[in-house]
Amino acid sequence: MQAAPLVDGFGRVHDNLRIGVTDRCNIRCFYCMPETGVEFVERREILSFEEIERFARIAVGLGITKLRVTGGEPLVRRGLPVLIRRLAAIPGVRDLALTTNGVLLEALAGPLYEAGLRRLNVHLDTLDRGRFRQIARRDDLDKVLAGLEAARRLGYTTIKLNVVAVKNLIEPDIVLLARFGRERGFEVRYIEFMPLDAQNLWDRGKVLLADEIIAILSREIAPLQPVPDPDPRAPATEYAFADGIGKVGFIASISRPFCGNCNRLRLTADGKLRYCLFALEEDDVKAPLRSGASDEDIAALIRSNVARKWAGHEINSSKFVAPPRAMNAIGG
Ligand code: SAM
Ligand code: SF4
Repeated sequence: MQAAPLVDGFGRVHDNLRIGVTDRCNIRCFYCMPETGVEFVERREILSFEEIERFARIAVGLGITKLRVTGGEPLVRRGLPVLIRRLAAIPGVRDLALTTNGVLLEALAGPLYEAGLRRLNVHLDTLDRGRFRQIARRDDLDKVLAGLEAARRLGYTTIKLNVVAVKNLIEPDIVLLARFGRERGFEVRYIEFMPLDAQNLWDRGKVLLADEIIAILSREIAPLQPVPDPDPRAPATEYAFADGIGKVGFIASISRPFCGNCNRLRLTADGKLRYCLFALEEDDVKAPLRSGASDEDIAALIRSNVARKWAGHEINSSKFVAPPRAMNAIGG
């Protein structure tokens, strides 16, 4: 018998699970991690592939159909294609995607494709080597570009570029990245800088807003027209260039919060279930997974987490409190 869907107190149906597979990363984007002195979770506290797969199967039994693997940097987790193969094989999974910084993608794009992955989001804020180094505190732009090219040659169905929109920093890249995407068939998604950085650097004045980017792209490339969304619950709003070449998307968490449509849950690498990126509470699933809990017990835990989900983040109010975990440890 099909289980009842995962509906929260506001009527939002949850069908999307993001899985953090590590909190570690091989670069150090300033809007996510500090440059030095990061304390990572001990390896034994990180969920095994078996634990992740079991949790995902139970969640899929409750109506989850979309999985996204993320981190930290998921490609630093050894043997990741093995996990991808297992997740792709779960009956009921209709969509499996991966978010990566692309640094290790050149070698892994093939094994991941063979394992069943078809959708990639590759994080790329700039095509300028100096600015890449300034943002990521590593000199790895060429590796990311090589990884993207490898993925493109393999024929991934969707490759999107994630650009974190930080004001007074990435303006010179906005048009260049959109052109880069249009030439290669990558959809660029501009993500408004959110208060999830480990060093509390965020303030409203540092956010480059979606409307400002739309104005720049419309002026410099071609007018942008909103695209009717096939999935209105997806966080990005999409626009097409009026000349018919390519699309861009905006994740405007600050200027156009989309909490009212949220369908997402998050499992952190250390086995905590979160109903929101910004949640201040989380449920431990690792201890139950490791101490003989039944599938029904885990399912009840997921239902209880969803039932407690709040209406949404309060970034635009004085009540906002940043979560104690930074983006790399939540699973962005
Ligand atoms: N390491 C992978 C990566 O960078 O894509 C996956 C994890 S990362 C936390 C997921 C996404 O979060 C990144 O693609 C980046 O665009 C986004 N991100 C990180 N910090 C952010 C912040 N403070 N505000 C908005 N987006 C952020
Ligand atoms: Fe690493 Fe991704 Fe965070 Fe950048 S955004 S530091 S690539 S986890």
